[in-house]
Amino acid sequence: MSNRKIVVLPGDGIGPEIIAQAQRVLDVVNDSFKLGLSTQVCMFGGAAYDKVGSPLPDETLAACREADAILMGSIGGPKYDAAPRELRPERGLLGLRSQLGLFANLRPAMLYPELAESSSLKTELVAGLDLMILRELTGGIYFGQPRGIETRDGKRVGFNTMVYNEDEIRRIGQRGFEIARQRGSRLCSVDKANVLEVSELWREVMIDVAKDYPDVELSHMYVDNAAMQLVRAPKQFDVIVTSNLFGDILSDAAAMLTGSIGMLPSASLDEQGKGLYEPVHGSAPDITGQGIANPLATILSASMMLRYTLKESAAADAIESAVSRVIADGYRCADIAAGVRGEKTVNTNEMGDAVLAAIHAGA
Ligand code: NAD
Repeated sequence: MSNRKIVVLPGDGIGPEIIAQAQRVLDVVNDSFKLGLSTQVCMFGGAAYDKVGSPLPDETLAACREADAILMGSIGGPKYDAAPRELRPERGLLGLRSQLGLFANLRPAMLYPELAESSSLKTELVAGLDLMILRELTGGIYFGQPRGIETRDGKRVGFNTMVYNEDEIRRIGQRGFEIARQRGSRLCSVDKANVLEVSELWREVMIDVAKDYPDVELSHMYVDNAAMQLVRAPKQFDVIVTSNLFGDILSDAAAMLTGSIGMLPSASLDEQGKGLYEPVHGSAPDITGQGIANPLATILSASMMLRYTLKESAAADAIESAVSRVIADGYRCADIAAGVRGEKTVNTNEMGDAVLAAIHAGA
């Protein structure tokens, strides 16, 4: 297998602690599945600002451009609240996403049956939940022109523009169908086509794209209904594809169905499928340095990277099975209530050990 390069961005707060565990896991599958991966660690976020005065140094951006995939920990923290806005860690992340053209945001919401009680919904509604929300990330109302606040007839008026051209819809649609193909082959396109012209076009293009994916079942749902269905019967979904605004809201709602922020990975992909993979959670300043952060969201981000960018599904399966196994065996980090039925509270490193042991046991 040819050599492929992964750039690792530990970042701030718990970032370095959780990334260290993901790197251990990657090292093991790299050897056992002969993946030919090499990794380069780069400065990013507040850590880079502290050292060189920029959250996204030129060398880091150049390395990310050359890399096949990027694995990030987390960035930010109260220490940087006083930094100039354009030099804050979040700016580094926004800059990286836009420089790399990462237009497709994947947010899985999974709930291991053993963790169903962490959800705010009834166990039978969420146990075994496994859905993927694909959100368009670089277009729509967050970027559309014209936008602004101006005075018209003596009154201040605020306005934004929800706009998509057909190419933008087509590329996110194609990504949605490809992801559905790698999962349960069902894609639900969420829009508001009964009210918005932009959604009418969205729906037309999705139907057109579907012709190239006859093996995937396409359905459509209005966003208000999708919000209801997510809290009524979330297990009906396989993959949801939607626009920037709708995806922003629905993906956070879906994340909360799982009730455990330390478990959720994410990805942002470009047109070639190269991606930035990171846990959904932030840098958790309140527990930084204590060695108790849950590394599973980051380990699962690494497994998404293997599946969606590096096309190494056997290695991804091995990691995901190992994570399921450690959850089933009762290992819990402090963010998830332990000790109820003989569950074991473990620290960050011990959770990494448990995942590695489960990978070896499954090999
Ligand atoms: P947060 O996600 O960092 O933390 C929220 C709560 O969840 C905290 O109590 C934290 O201890 C807990 N938590 C988060 N991840 C955990 C893990 N892996 N294991 C155990 N517990 C975990 O959100 P916040 O406190 O609102 O933000 C803190 C900083 O992170 C801010 O500077 C924010 O801007 C930044 N942030 C960064 C990203 C990113 O890197 N992409 C995302 C969100 C927030």
